[in-house]
Amino acid sequence: MNSQGEVAVAVPIARDGGHNDAFVFPPDAVAAAEKAIVASGLRRCGTYHSHPRSAPVPSEADRLVIRSDELMLIVGASGGCGAIRLWRLSRCRRFMNEVEWKQV
Ligand SMILES: [Zn+2]
Repeated sequence: MNSQGEVAVAVPIARDGGHNDAFVFPPDAVAAAEKAIVASGLRRCGTYHSHPRSAPVPSEADRLVIRSDELMLIVGASGGCGAIRLWRLSRCRRFMNEVEWKQV
């Protein structure tokens, strides 16, 4: 995210292939991506992933892995082709709240 609050770069990281019901990123790949983001003068603001067979609504596994200060963008299969929704963890960490966003 840049200083204007815009997501300026999306860094793709291949998920760990051993998990079918949740996305798990290899820690070394995450560390390398975070280092590159900081070196670019940006800051990490969240993660993104897809739900190829369901709506872009966070799963329980998603809720458990999201960082409390970050956003989670999900691209889903239902709700329209390429449905995209943005989420943030509630203060009590028990719910995911949808966040309004716009593409610029
Ligand atoms: Zn998910």
